Amino acid sequence: MYDLNGKTVWVAGHKGMVGSAVVRRLASEDCKVVAAPRGELDLKRQTEVENFVAVMKPDAIVMAAAKVGGILANATYPVDFLYDNLMIEANIFAAAHENNVDRVLFLGSSCIYPKMAPQPIPESALLTGPLERTNECYAVAKITGIKMAQAYREQYGRDYISAMPTNLYGPGDNYDLQSGHVIPALIRKAHEAKLISDKQITIWGTGTPRREFMHVDDCADALVFLLKNYSDHDHVNLGCGQDITILELTRMICRVVGFTGEIAHDHSRPDGTPRKLMSVDKLRTLGWAAKITLMEGIESAYHAFLNGSYTERR
Ligand code: GDP
Repeated sequence: MYDLNGKTVWVAGHKGMVGSAVVRRLASEDCKVVAAPRGELDLKRQTEVENFVAVMKPDAIVMAAAKVGGILANATYPVDFLYDNLMIEANIFAAAHENNVDRVLFLGSSCIYPKMAPQPIPESALLTGPLERTNECYAVAKITGIKMAQAYREQYGRDYISAMPTNLYGPGDNYDLQSGHVIPALIRKAHEAKLISDKQITIWGTGTPRREFMHVDDCADALVFLLKNYSDHDHVNLGCGQDITILELTRMICRVVGFTGEIAHDHSRPDGTPRKLMSVDKLRTLGWAAKITLMEGIESAYHAFLNGSYTERR
């Protein structure tokens, strides 16, 4: 049990979709949140990160900063996904240890698991087989982060933990059609098609891959739960325990947006891994379960999209 009362928590990546959700969630805890304005701290620079931690003296760090993107961005910019994420993780862990910060929560992703992992994927599937090619570099960087947390625990007794959220969506998402993930891309496509009375939208691939999705506010709640209640070597999956095909997801988004045209496929785009559903047994045993249904979540994401995220990010 980690008592957050009176603690100073640095949310690294507080402007991102996950980081901003964690900041919102921490507002209901009795702790002080610190964050570095973007542009003033380059997390890829060791000295800057060390100085920041030395000055702010956080008691705990939530590492929500990362280079993230959808299937195409991952496949197109592998160096950025590998280098940026490795540097961010290495710098924050090292600065935390140097400055005696004893509590770090590292965030990864469900793509750390082998492409052909058993479904739902248990935490024990890590490093048991080859990764999905389209996001291998991102996955290797995130696996390294898990190992860093474990290594600091083993070598120095640090209380560093890791959580692996499934595909996330919600306010603050990236609506760029090239670099974003499937939910924001489809919200935007359906919305724009509706506005110009287009007869169809085009989705990537076959529509048959299955994915699990979690609203970012649920994710933030789970992260704060783990920060307060989890203290162990192994990482924890964060998900809702249910998946859906991309085609079913598309139909759901079209219903929420009010687009009634057809759904076409661009088969030149990759499907990626066939299925990605994580086992949430461990999370449930610890005492946490997701609360926001996919339908409610998409409705709230569409609402957020209409209220600004979209125009801000175009
Ligand atoms: P992934 O979970 O790493 O594969 O990341 P994505 O969220 O980018 O893609 C999930 C699935 O949605 C893949 O099978 C994509 O081919 C499919 N998909 C269908 N239409 C789109 C789209 O417009 N954008 C994205 N990013 N994915 C799409």
